[in-house]
Amino acid sequence: MSTKFKNFISNQIKRFPHQPEFVQAVSEVAESVIPFTSENKKYDNMILERMIEPERMIIFRVPWLDDNNNIKINRGFRVEMNSAIGPYKGGLRFHKNVNLGILKFLAFEQVFKNSLTSLPLGGGKGGSDFDPKGKSESEIMRFCQSFMNELFRHIGPFTDIPAGDIGVGLREIGFMFGQYKKLSNEFSGVITGKGIGWGGSLIRPEATGYGNVYFAEEMLNTNGDGFKNKKIVISGSGNVAQYSCEKAIDLGAKVLTMSDSSGFIYDKQGINLEKLNFIKYLKNIKRGRISEYANEYKSDFFEHKKPWSVKGDIILPCATENELNFEDAKLIVKNGVLCVSEGANMPCNSEAIKYFQQKKILYAPGKASNAGGVAVSALEMSQNSIRFEWSRDEVDNKLKEIMKNIHDCCVLHGKNKSDIDYVKGANIGGFIRVADAMLAQGVV
Ligand code: NDP
Repeated sequence: MSTKFKNFISNQIKRFPHQPEFVQAVSEVAESVIPFTSENKKYDNMILERMIEPERMIIFRVPWLDDNNNIKINRGFRVEMNSAIGPYKGGLRFHKNVNLGILKFLAFEQVFKNSLTSLPLGGGKGGSDFDPKGKSESEIMRFCQSFMNELFRHIGPFTDIPAGDIGVGLREIGFMFGQYKKLSNEFSGVITGKGIGWGGSLIRPEATGYGNVYFAEEMLNTNGDGFKNKKIVISGSGNVAQYSCEKAIDLGAKVLTMSDSSGFIYDKQGINLEKLNFIKYLKNIKRGRISEYANEYKSDFFEHKKPWSVKGDIILPCATENELNFEDAKLIVKNGVLCVSEGANMPCNSEAIKYFQQKKILYAPGKASNAGGVAVSALEMSQNSIRFEWSRDEVDNKLKEIMKNIHDCCVLHGKNKSDIDYVKGANIGGFIRVADAMLAQGVV
């Protein structure tokens, strides 16, 4: 580790002692980018220092009435991180743990991810510490409307285009889009993840999960391998997990696990499409707990446990940040894993990543492997602009091509003598495009 890197990181730790996730995300990028900028002097121009400072951060009060007419207050955020290559783009997260540090980490990751897609998208992220669990439909709607009452001043189809993330799915996007439309008196592509029939794109719900599996398949292909007959361990049971599962089944693999914050289910027979439909209904409509799957299909349920003890050839962490640590990584490697591909953002902590790399496991960081969601969001924006809708196959083929290009970019910048360092490849590949634009635009 160079002195420059050490000084850079210790400075960030001093500046942001209460934002550990942000410092973690910056450290991971800096470890690849600082040696690169030292060798390529044109980038040694305070570019990384500028990139870690958001262009703008908006924090606002979100007051709303619960069903008993009590006034509730939450905090809303939008971190507009970088607009060098396009308008800010990134999801909104509603979760009780949301704070500025978490949104800064997500916005920072988003800048690199969006750059890797080769599409004209800057990076941002937002959300609220609102906890949707246990809230009625009307409470969710009133919260979303109040959130948009402030956010609408800061976003626009050419400025900042939010989408979904944890706790924000089609229902919440609908309520927020409806309120934006009322306040602005225009129907535009200001939010992505909209429903089919009111501006949404086919394949957008599937895109992050499908893209994750397409990326993992590309990695396996480098060793002449693929998903067929492989055992898959998935965490999470939300949007990304559901469609990672669907595509893995489609490619002939056997999915053994899914989870939520209360534990994981282990189905030795494999989760087939019928069982997956049960999970979709349970999570997207009924909004129940994953343990209900175990009752329905007589599978095992492990309360408050993560699925990493289950032997799998391919591991797809699709729930949340830092859900897989060094001890988990040791167990996963001992169990003979071939490939780990992140559907979630930063689900593996730094020690786990280092261990996978040391053991030469094919490991993909989320900024590369989960970029399919934002890529199809950009395709949704294009369709909104040209007022035309592409077919399912057209969008899916574009998604596949984009994931393959991201993989190629990682190989180009991450190839070592005997293996591919996907972390380095994604960080440098994502950095160059943004850095070139920043250099061309002057001191911005
Ligand atoms: P959802 O809200 O649809 O699902 C989240 C899933 O993760 C749920 O099963 C949830 O369980 C679980 N989860 C959340 N927090 C925790 C926690 N602290 N511990 C254990 N489990 C938890 O979100 P998404 O599927 O959209 O997002 C999942 C991940 O993918 C996030 O990291 C997100 O940033 C990332 N991502 C999402 C994209 C998208 O297009 N949606 C795009 C790129 C990345 P429970 O219901 O019990 O809370």
